[in-house]
Amino acid sequence: MGITKECRICKSMFTTRSNKSAVWEVKCHSCYTNSRRTHLETRHGEAIKNNEASIRKDMKKLEAKVSDIDMLISAEVSNQILNVSNLEMFEKINASVNARLDTYIAKVEEENLKFREKIQKHIITLNNKIVKLMKEREQ
Ligand SMILES: [Zn+2]
Repeated sequence: MGITKECRICKSMFTTRSNKSAVWEVKCHSCYTNSRRTHLETRHGEAIKNNEASIRKDMKKLEAKVSDIDMLISAEVSNQILNVSNLEMFEKINASVNARLDTYIAKVEEENLKFREKIQKHIITLNNKIVKLMKEREQ
């Protein structure tokens, strides 16, 4: 059994949950629920704000790291480029072009040799035929 009291907020009369709770109950049920909800919402909002703040901090840290990495990579790349002089670069390109040309020329020469052998065989055959024909005429 509770006691009837006046709500501190809305000034309406309400019955406390028990005689004991009448000592600390100062708000009616709906005002108590409202203020509790407001309190929770405020705390929730603060938690969200804190979260956002820490996320923003983390993102700034991450951005700083990423730009550090970018700088490290571009420094390394320009380092490598500086290490390789123009002459070295030219020599490398030249060597690879030469290697390709050598392969191509070898292939052409091989085909050329086969072609020449083929022609020579034809010429020999033709010569033999001519010799044969000449011998037949002489008879
Ligand atoms: Zn009330």
